[in-house]
Amino acid sequence: MSTIELKKVNKYFDNNHILKDLDLLIEEGDFMTLLGPSGCGKTTTLRVITGLENPEQGIITIGGKEIVNGQVSHFTPPSKRGLNLVFQSYALWPHMTVFDNVAFGLNLQKTSKAETKERVENALEKMRIFNLKDRYPSELSGGQQQRVAIARAIVTEPKILLLDEPLSNLDAKLRLEMRAELKRLHKELGTTIIYVTHDQVEALTLSTKIAVFFEGNLVQVDTPRNIYRHPADIRVADFIGNPKINFVDAKCRYNAGSIQTESELGKLDVPCAQPPSDQVVLAIYPEDIEVSNEPIEDGIVCSVYSILPAGSETLVQLSVQGDLMILAKVIGEMEYTMGKMVWVKFPVSKVNVYDKGTGKLVS
Ligand code: ATP
Repeated sequence: MSTIELKKVNKYFDNNHILKDLDLLIEEGDFMTLLGPSGCGKTTTLRVITGLENPEQGIITIGGKEIVNGQVSHFTPPSKRGLNLVFQSYALWPHMTVFDNVAFGLNLQKTSKAETKERVENALEKMRIFNLKDRYPSELSGGQQQRVAIARAIVTEPKILLLDEPLSNLDAKLRLEMRAELKRLHKELGTTIIYVTHDQVEALTLSTKIAVFFEGNLVQVDTPRNIYRHPADIRVADFIGNPKINFVDAKCRYNAGSIQTESELGKLDVPCAQPPSDQVVLAIYPEDIEVSNEPIEDGIVCSVYSILPAGSETLVQLSVQGDLMILAKVIGEMEYTMGKMVWVKFPVSKVNVYDKGTGKLVS
């Protein structure tokens, strides 16, 4: 009953086309993250689902029931859509204590006093703010207010929960704890969650599915694993991964089910069903590059430009040929010396190939 579907949704602000023919299916129990750079239309998508904005075109259904039909201007009011929304700006009631803010939804549902107390205290404990229950919002930090807003949203155990950058004001440690809490909550309650973030690590950590936006277009909807391993579009590849993926331009020749690419990385034979154009871009994550002080079969020789130890791992900047620099990530501390030669291998199975013209993944 909590499947949400958007069909050909278009939204304009003045003459600006903000959401472009958006098709998105969020199935019951999904943790669907809307991911993309600032201004790409994530929040607007949430707002048209909740009814805070109306799209000019398109249809939205919840549990098969049409709540929006842009063509005939049919818009079910926000309060009748059965959704629970947490904004980046928390919108707490300033005249109520933390406890009363969180209890608000349960009071509306006429839940008994004893049950309300138990559920509110439970939600406050989950969000690590039990000790703040008698304070007013003005006496809380931004991060504390943010956690009150989440507690208020989860306490009623909604079927659908929409969260817009709900952890943006927390410090790194607390953000990690809250991610774990949200993930557990999703599993325990089976709530369908739509989550907005521009933080790709957060998206990869939390979601069952990720929808990646660029400039109002949905460019890929997939599992975190597939989004990471096989970004369908070069813009997705550029956005995902920390440290970022390496890109290398290559010439390409197609021959019966495979392509041979030629670049500063040498020649690579990559399986490929469809012939791309003769210019491609190779993409490989820093952690997939093999680096060794000893010769490696099919490896190429590079010089170590810079070494950046980071505790459990080391980033090695490698000068390949000419101006080309690539970044490799190796586990542990490595015995490399700046300026020294090393052997480097790019495993073919880990290389993604993009058509330079269309930016689409071809292999
Ligand atoms: P962020 O991560 O920065 O919150 P976002 O991906 O959520 O970005 P939106 O808030 O959906 O992006 O905004 C998409 C575009 O629509 C932006 O260019 C924004 O300036 C514009 N926009 C959003 N709301 C309005 C509005 N009420 N009036 C005019 N333009 C708007």
